[in-house]
Amino acid sequence: MVKALQAVRGMNDVLPDKIGYWQYVENIIRQVTLAYDYAEIRLPIVESTDLFRRSVGEVTDIVEKEMYTFDDRNGDSLTLRPEGTAVCARAGIQHGLLYNQIRRLWYMGPMFRHERPQKGRYRQFYQLGVEAFGMAGAQIDVELIAMNARLWQQLGLQDKLTLQINTLGSTQERAQYRDALRDYYSAHHAALDADSQRRLDSNPLRILDSKNPEMQALNAGAPKLLDYLGAESQAHFKQVQGLLTALDIAYEVNPRLVRGLDYYCHMVFEWVTQELGAQGTVSAGGRYDGLVEQLGGKATPACGFAVGIERIVALLQKQVANTNVLQAPHAYMVTFGDAAQQAGLALAEQLRHALPALSLRVDCSGGSFKNQLKRADKSGAQWVLIIGDDEVAQQAVALKFLRDEKPQQVLKQSELASQLQQLM
Ligand code: ATP
Ligand code: MG
Repeated sequence: MVKALQAVRGMNDVLPDKIGYWQYVENIIRQVTLAYDYAEIRLPIVESTDLFRRSVGEVTDIVEKEMYTFDDRNGDSLTLRPEGTAVCARAGIQHGLLYNQIRRLWYMGPMFRHERPQKGRYRQFYQLGVEAFGMAGAQIDVELIAMNARLWQQLGLQDKLTLQINTLGSTQERAQYRDALRDYYSAHHAALDADSQRRLDSNPLRILDSKNPEMQALNAGAPKLLDYLGAESQAHFKQVQGLLTALDIAYEVNPRLVRGLDYYCHMVFEWVTQELGAQGTVSAGGRYDGLVEQLGGKATPACGFAVGIERIVALLQKQVANTNVLQAPHAYMVTFGDAAQQAGLALAEQLRHALPALSLRVDCSGGSFKNQLKRADKSGAQWVLIIGDDEVAQQAVALKFLRDEKPQQVLKQSELASQLQQLM
């Protein structure tokens, strides 16, 4: 036998026994985005490498060490998208969706980062991204957070997640803060890890975002950005907090929250859980007023967030029994003999025509009656539809109830659709 091939490390198959969770999440995402009138946009998975260099930032984990970058056959440098915001902004600019306009968009799909695979951290993972363009005030920041909170509520996860917010201030305020951080860390140069030493000159804010536990004590003593904010930034942040309170959305201000991408400014937020170990951030976002201009569009205020779908699924798996989200057919058809196989397929087509909402599986394996019935039971179906030679001769079908104590019935084939409709 030839050796079977394996998936690429960190890239997962979602198998049918788990797909119910994914579809459940996807359906709720559709409901919730619709409730706020956000439009879906579908974006390519591959983009030119420059897009991410210019948006995410040269001195970030993503661009420095996580991107899947390759030259295509023309020698162009392409990258599997590591995140969606830059892609969405690129598409918005390219198609004139953003110019002097207000846009509310969402998308869902795979992202790619060459990270060390571990629980909750993969090399291909799925995100829901939600982006709002053209609105500068705190109102839209809070609409996004409220939408995110509604997502948790609809998924039944509201008790598992807490909201942390922070502000990064304006570009100028951040520049002043950067100098203060550089002074602070320079004074503790020996205590910095290799990554942080490298970042000291180029981007000391990134040091605050370090995942290295040995950096935590040092980071805790660092100057706080909140102390460097001007009146306007403070007012925006106050407004965000006032609106959150008015909507009864609990939050915590976390001054260490800086986010791993360069384009953020002013309000940033994360939803975190205690239930997933080290990979506790389930959703993250904030304002990115500079990005559209940075990518060649007209200056456009914008904000958004991204949710890690695997981490939601992991939370759901802990609390929703699989049977609640697993899809089972309503009915399972069993046929016995050549004539019955033909009659069964034809009847199944009639039923699907008459009852578009019916889920019906036909046992096409041609096994013994006993084995077909066993499979019917295993499928989770409510009813078995049985056709043998007798039924063919009488244009009948036997209806057996697998989950109720009702006796088996024999019906005319022509009556079955209306009978099933009453049962559904
Ligand atoms: P982290 O701090 O966990 O590395 P990040 O700041 O790199 O996260 P974002 O780029 O903000 O993450 O992505 C938003 C969300 O996408 C994260 O909160 C997480 O739920 C999910 N996510 C990010 N990277 C991964 C990954 N490698 N595998 C699975 N989910 C991920
Ligand atoms: Mg990361």
